[in-house]
Amino acid sequence: MRKEFLPFSRPSISENEIAAVGEVLRSGWITTGARTAEFEQAFSDYCGCQGAVALSSATAGMHLLLTALGIGPGDEVITPSMTWVSTVNLIVRTGATPVFVDVNRDSLMTDADRIRECVSQNTRLIIPVHFAGAAVDMEPINELVGERNIDVVEDAAHAAGTKYNGRKIGNRGTAIFSFHPIKNLTTGEGGMFCSDNDELLQNIRSLKFHGLGVDAHDRNQQGRTPQAEVLEPGFKYNLTDMAAALGLGQLARLDDFIGKRTLLAERYQQQLAEIDEILPLTTSPCTSRHAWHLYIIRLDTDRAGMDRDTFMDELKKRNIGTGLHFRAVHEQRYYRETMPQVMGTLPNTEWNSARICSLPLFPDMTRDDVDDVVAAVKEVLS
Ligand SMILES: *Cc1c(COP(=O)(O)O)cnc(C)c1O
Repeated sequence: MRKEFLPFSRPSISENEIAAVGEVLRSGWITTGARTAEFEQAFSDYCGCQGAVALSSATAGMHLLLTALGIGPGDEVITPSMTWVSTVNLIVRTGATPVFVDVNRDSLMTDADRIRECVSQNTRLIIPVHFAGAAVDMEPINELVGERNIDVVEDAAHAAGTKYNGRKIGNRGTAIFSFHPIKNLTTGEGGMFCSDNDELLQNIRSLKFHGLGVDAHDRNQQGRTPQAEVLEPGFKYNLTDMAAALGLGQLARLDDFIGKRTLLAERYQQQLAEIDEILPLTTSPCTSRHAWHLYIIRLDTDRAGMDRDTFMDELKKRNIGTGLHFRAVHEQRYYRETMPQVMGTLPNTEWNSARICSLPLFPDMTRDDVDDVVAAVKEVLS
């Protein structure tokens, strides 16, 4: 058995990144400023997107988007229940109605056919989730929306560096990325709103800083006259220069991180293939580069003769950490109580919600670590 606990994720922070953050701390300007502007530009260049706004989290980005689109009571927003709770929480907070779309049983990804079944005359927005570092097939979804007055935003929290049909996610349309510490690139906490819609970008940029139209950095650069004033009541969701300095260093290493994650994931694929109780996810060919944010398996609970939570517990006893991405949103207490009619209507989501488990995967992991995980999995199942 392993002597030291292997966490399921750990950020990779270099001495250069620590020094870059230190430099900001010594500079006299630590909140949103030149480093943040540089990070926005570098991320836009990386994704090939028209514009990007750095934010304090992806959740903040979703809040700003729902606000900018004026989503509210009477509106329906289609999203999978197999997602992080933040999206659905915010939809409910705006007064709109979340409409849950089921996912493919083996990719955890939704698709145009499933979404079509959920569209009504009240549908205003669709939020597909690029799951685990693979890509949703977006083209049929965009075609389905066509000329209708329905917006699409890609939840790209897992997808920094993912390529869809040869193009980076974020390259077209509107996508929101997360830089939480478990994601492929981290700023501690942070997010990026990318879009090819200039008006929307400008609106998000203003809403993220009180609706002033400018932020503290702009005011510093441009002097205090004319006084900034509220154009629309906004929020306080800007990223700091400390975080952006870390993000710039991380972004420069993102392709290297993905390369390392890919090697580790391939080793898992090979070694787990022979274990009948373990069912890895499948990836559709539209993912031309998998960013391997997560290595998710499903436990065949019948064959294993144990439930997923026991499996996770047993791995923990053997010093192997695991994660759960995700327990379906509609199965969580608030949603069970307020939307009981949803239970039982999302068979693939519910099947996976009871069986998924994320195995350790992060750039500084070694091949021996993968072997330790596989050995522990075999022992637990034997
Ligand atoms: C992490 C995550 C988010 C939220 O990101 P934050 O930066 O923590 O707000 C949203 N959606 C998905 C699918 C995520 O995994």
